[in-house]
Amino acid sequence: MKTKLYDDIQIGLEQTRDNLTHWEETTPEEKRNTQLGPEDEISVEEHLHVIDESLEKIKEGTFGICEVCHEAVDSELLQMDYTSAICLGHFSDEELRQLESELELSQVIQRGLLPQQVPSIEGVNIAAFSRPAQIVGGDYFDFVDFKDGKHGLVMADVSGHGVSAGMFMSSLQTAFHTLVPDTESPLEVLERINRLYVHNINFTTFVTIFFGKYDPSTRTLSYANAGHNSAYLYRLAANQEIWLRPTGPAIGVMEEFTIRTEAIRLEPGDILLLYTDGITEATNHQGAFWDEDRLANIVSQNANSSAEQLIQKILQALKDHTDGSPLADDVTLLIAKVS
Ligand SMILES: [Zn+2]
Repeated sequence: MKTKLYDDIQIGLEQTRDNLTHWEETTPEEKRNTQLGPEDEISVEEHLHVIDESLEKIKEGTFGICEVCHEAVDSELLQMDYTSAICLGHFSDEELRQLESELELSQVIQRGLLPQQVPSIEGVNIAAFSRPAQIVGGDYFDFVDFKDGKHGLVMADVSGHGVSAGMFMSSLQTAFHTLVPDTESPLEVLERINRLYVHNINFTTFVTIFFGKYDPSTRTLSYANAGHNSAYLYRLAANQEIWLRPTGPAIGVMEEFTIRTEAIRLEPGDILLLYTDGITEATNHQGAFWDEDRLANIVSQNANSSAEQLIQKILQALKDHTDGSPLADDVTLLIAKVS
């Protein structure tokens, strides 16, 4: 019997259920709506339902049994996807090949930690800043090029902080570095990441991701926003503010993951700001949030500053607001200014 594995799966599923329930109960409605994107909470209930069903099966002793031959499903399969209910023997060659690549990827992701890449994109002035609230953080930003040479920009926030969020963060980094150079589609990357995480018992939390693809030759930014804070775009020439809102739910929150891409053409002088909620939810001594509009105002009112100067101005204003209060969450900022 696979007692140890089933125990691990049970612990992982219970943890996931607790995290999702805690999220439903304690996250303010507005933030829940951001993280759900265009989806509604019924999809989270479906996820909880699948978890409960699996826990029930573990209790009954029917978990991990093949629907075809009624033998035990391979443990590797279950580790990758706890809902697996067909054993390897019944897979077609094509299905086996696909599964093999998913298995490899899933192993790479659980192992890896890659060094942070140095940002550099032609025609764009970029600066970034990241500070964890604890020694290890759950924020992640990165620059990874696609197969066609166009540039990927990632800003992600793993729920919770500390070591477990940090581990998830480093696995996410590996996932992006493994997947992005192999594709031209931000959607494909996010869909595969969701698939890898949603039924994996080692990942019990969830993550919001803003993922952009920038083409310098046309200055086009296409993006998918998985339940992450709206990115802010300030159009200098038109003195216009644009919020790039969620186009899908956070990764790992729901069973059915659908997300869409949107595209926007950037103009010279435009400033794109990506951030995590450690900034907008930084509180002062009275417990008041530092909200998105104040963040946006600093950018629009200092639009002639360089990306680095803008980061410094935002950090100074954040410091003035919190006035020595310790940061409750990781703070990460990325500014891209089109020259
Ligand atoms: Zn079977």
